Amino acid sequence: MKKADVVILGGLSGISAGISCRRHYPDKKIVLIRKEGTILIPCGIPYIFGTVGRPENNVIPDGLLEKNDIELITDEAIDVDREQKIVSFKNNEPIQYDKMVFATGSAPLVPPIPGIKKENVFSVKKEFDYLKDVLREMDKVKDIVIIGGGFIGMEFADECRKNRDVNVTVVEMGGRCLQLAMDDEYCDEAEKALKDVGVKILTNEKVVSIEGNTAVESVKLASGKMVKADIVILGIGAVPNTTLAEKVGLELGLRKEIKVDRYMQTMTDKDIFACGDCCTKESFFDGRPSCVMLASVATSEARIAGANLFSPVHHNCGVISVFATVINNRAFGVAGLTEKVATENNISIIVGRADAPDTHPGGMPNSTMLKVKLIFSKDTGIILGGTISGGKSTGEMVNVLSACILHRMTANDIVMFQMGTHPALTSSPIAYPIVNAACKAVLPIRNIAN
Ligand SMILES: Cc1cc2nc3c(=O)[nH]c(=O)nc-3n(C[C@H](O)[C@H](O)[C@H](O)COP(=O)(O)OP(=O)(O)OC[C@H]3O[C@@H](n4cnc5c(N)ncnc54)[C@H](O)[C@@H]3O)c2cc1C
Repeated sequence: MKKADVVILGGLSGISAGISCRRHYPDKKIVLIRKEGTILIPCGIPYIFGTVGRPENNVIPDGLLEKNDIELITDEAIDVDREQKIVSFKNNEPIQYDKMVFATGSAPLVPPIPGIKKENVFSVKKEFDYLKDVLREMDKVKDIVIIGGGFIGMEFADECRKNRDVNVTVVEMGGRCLQLAMDDEYCDEAEKALKDVGVKILTNEKVVSIEGNTAVESVKLASGKMVKADIVILGIGAVPNTTLAEKVGLELGLRKEIKVDRYMQTMTDKDIFACGDCCTKESFFDGRPSCVMLASVATSEARIAGANLFSPVHHNCGVISVFATVINNRAFGVAGLTEKVATENNISIIVGRADAPDTHPGGMPNSTMLKVKLIFSKDTGIILGGTISGGKSTGEMVNVLSACILHRMTANDIVMFQMGTHPALTSSPIAYPIVNAACKAVLPIRNIAN
């Protein structure tokens, strides 16, 4: 029988776990199994429909596996004999493993709306051939309806109107698009950015049925409105892909995620680890269960899992939740808690805000205004979160905030930042908005402490 020291089931976080394992254990034989021949950069999927143009331009190169001496087998794992430590597959011979990693990810949530199975109703599967079909249909249509105004829905809406003369409508059940991710002022800014390119946004509206003969022709809303649709894209969330884990008796959480500890070891089997969208998560802030599914979290967990396979190296500090998106060239990024979430959780906070152009002088070509909002604990002055909108630098600036949060820096610490600046690349050292937002919070925090 074929043998391997490590068998990993998965894609994005599976690759990260494999690379991490290779770094820590250079002599181990590692095999990665995944269902798809070619895998996509999941976060790049919306861009297939606009900016990058086709799935072929959005793939994770297999060279990463070759470079790290990780054998790739394209197949589906269908069973695991945990006593004998043997994993079996649809097509290939079984493999006996020493350690195994479940990185089986998530699948899109498909709600039981009447008509959901009609032709041209698509969820956002991370599958190459499926997305090729979606793209082919998208290129034939006139009216596109996107259900869900989260960041996937918003990115799709922005992208699929690029190079196409189409009507795009986003239907969002809540009062604002992106309302679960950002504070209201940023949601309003994002909605405006999307409306400015001609996308119609219907908030406080719920799709109750999808109408048409065999293919979709319109969607019906709870308000009674009908919206014409030749194609419908569902962007309403994802669920952990744990059918196999359940079948082989790994303990699952409330949302059917694989239960793991802080070392990414499953609660059920010391030789099986899990990482990414398929496993349980806890909040960095209070240790409560978190259902955040992000590549940032998945790959961090994967690095931890890969390192810990044969002896504990790292432990997981919990989900900070850091991400960014871009809508009509305006970027939005969040790290940690928003004001809304902190307030809902009765956390006393001080908010510091600062705006500045991302070049100095602000008159430089392509200069963009940055809008920074930082959230600090009123009691300790420790940073809990931050939201930024602006240009391209937004993506890396929220990563800086994530590092500040991870190291529990206070407003005072951030005031003392020595930031590298350059006229064409950053805000002015006098107006650097992360520092200035912290400066504005220091005084109220000090007044409370005294
Ligand atoms: C459209 C879209 C945009 C996104 N944008 C962002 C973003 O901008 N930033 C961000 O941080 N996150 C983003 N995300 C979320 C991010 O993509 C996920 O958090 C990430 O893909 C999780 O990685 P994963 O490895 O856990 O799972 P997945 O990417 O779901 O990979 C799981 C893999 O496991 C394989 N598999 C499953 N079962 C088996 C089996 N039995 N045998 C063999 N193989 C199996 C699957 O085929 C798949 O290849 C986005 C998600 C989507 C859908």
